[in-house]
Amino acid sequence: MPGGYPYDGQRAVLATRHGKLAVIAPALEPTGLRITTADVDTDALGTFAGEIPRTLPMHEAAVAKARIGMEQQGCAIGLASEGTIGPDPMIPLLICDTELVLLVDDDQGLVIWETARDHGVRAAVTVTRPGQPIAAFLDEADFPGHRLIVRPEGMEPADVPAGLMRKGIADQQALAQAIRDCSAASPTGHARVESDLRAHCSPTRQQVIARAAQRLAARVISRCPDCGAPGWGRVGTLSGLPCAWCDTWIDSAHRGVILGCTRCPFQREVHEQRAAEDPARCPSCNP
Ligand SMILES: [Zn+2]
Ligand SMILES: [Zn+2]
Repeated sequence: MPGGYPYDGQRAVLATRHGKLAVIAPALEPTGLRITTADVDTDALGTFAGEIPRTLPMHEAAVAKARIGMEQQGCAIGLASEGTIGPDPMIPLLICDTELVLLVDDDQGLVIWETARDHGVRAAVTVTRPGQPIAAFLDEADFPGHRLIVRPEGMEPADVPAGLMRKGIADQQALAQAIRDCSAASPTGHARVESDLRAHCSPTRQQVIARAAQRLAARVISRCPDCGAPGWGRVGTLSGLPCAWCDTWIDSAHRGVILGCTRCPFQREVHEQRAAEDPARCPSCNP
């Protein structure tokens, strides 16, 4: 059992409409799972383009998605992924992509997940009208390697008539046509062109999803030292150390991590080597 595939040959169903199997399945090979897909209309849980607002937090949305697939295919093990792209909470000028990949195992009563974060996802937007040159924008958006969405400028996504918003645009001719149609329908006479951030339209996003899936695989194959359940890994961080010079207690100082089990209460603390914080981070020594 230790070191072997924890899910040797067992079937898992990946809930996806946007072809994530090719991104996620190779990364999960070390788990031994045999992955099939369920065509789940995940748009009902909210869409990237904003016509349907997302209501659930990322983690719950992924669990809900996985469960829809499991139910559809009568499978006790489900997989789902969920991503958010937006301004970085710490550095608002940077666009941050956070991807979560999750495994639900109803046989063992486990939910295991991992995330990956990246600032390199292509996400560009411009407002234009027919005949206006947009070569610099297309370069920034890496078109046609990354696909585009076009909609009328000055309209809320929910108010755009069905069929007018064009998604997944991958060639110049379709792009020019969409800009003509959307500009004509826009109250300002302009079209809004932006990166289509759905996974199958964004190769840079796919890379981040693959990384989250690799981390999930690494976690699934680590077992709890106490009960043997898959999914042993980091469940929290330890913080708080004294300043190396003046002994002031610094709450934010990183002291180590807490490893935990997904099934039983067993935990283990892993402390960093250092016993004191760098005075450069001390509010008394370096205010
Ligand atoms: Zn100090
Ligand atoms: Zn355990």
